[in-house]
Amino acid sequence: RHREAAPLALRDIHLSFGGVRAIDGLDLELRPGEVHGLIGPNGSGKTTTLNVICGFYVPQQGEARLGGSPLPMGQPQLRAGLGLARTFQTPRIVGESSVLENVMVGGTISGAASFLEAALSLPRSRAEERALRNRALLCLRAVGLEGLAEVRADRLQHSELRFLEIARALMLNPAFLLLDEPAAGLTGEEMWRLGELVRQVAAAGVGVLLVEHHAELIFAVCDRVTVLNLGKELAAGTPAEVRSHKEVVSAYLGG
Ligand code: ADP
Repeated sequence: RHREAAPLALRDIHLSFGGVRAIDGLDLELRPGEVHGLIGPNGSGKTTTLNVICGFYVPQQGEARLGGSPLPMGQPQLRAGLGLARTFQTPRIVGESSVLENVMVGGTISGAASFLEAALSLPRSRAEERALRNRALLCLRAVGLEGLAEVRADRLQHSELRFLEIARALMLNPAFLLLDEPAAGLTGEEMWRLGELVRQVAAAGVGVLLVEHHAELIFAVCDRVTVLNLGKELAAGTPAEVRSHKEVVSAYLGG
């Protein structure tokens, strides 16, 4: 399916949980084909920002735009239908189902009609089932898991589950892919494989948001980086610009 390549912009987002200001006046723009890194200490608002973008959280103030159009806050299903796909910090799988079935699920939430269909578990036609299967196999191949398609998901190693989650998100044919700490628990080698995958996804025109605390991964694979602190932007720019930012160096890079 063709999607219009348009940037996704957040403006002046404020979100508090009770008295805690998780996001405090944040602007952020994701562009098609770019990897945007979001980095910052624990509690700085990275995951909350991702949850605002995918519509899980509704901020008290601020707006979102997709290209020229305002995007209503919240409404995660609408946003999924517009091509906003995400992964979770803790991979969410059905352990007793196969890897392939776990990926196929990602293809049933790509639009309102099929979302209802998924929710009601209406039987699909054989042709649709086959198309979904073939697509899931392609997504598994993209992340290097095609050899494990028929294995039960609970047999996978941690790193394989992380790649499975990305395959499932790719089923949405996303315009934007939001990754929440995808490198957590990966070995160095696995992390660099993830970095390569992220670059490939961006090269296909997808805008990627990479929430990470591995600074070396962020600086190696991102086109632009936003550094958060206390829910605010501390620095933003290219990796080179952000790396030379004085406060960033002293706070995060041990300079
Ligand atoms: P990060 O992802 O950078 O570690 P978070 O976005 O998870 O930061 O959290 C930002 C702040 O908001 C923290 O102070 C955190 O405790 C708080 N917070 C996040 N989610 C919730 C929630 N569901 N309820 C209450 N407080 C929350």
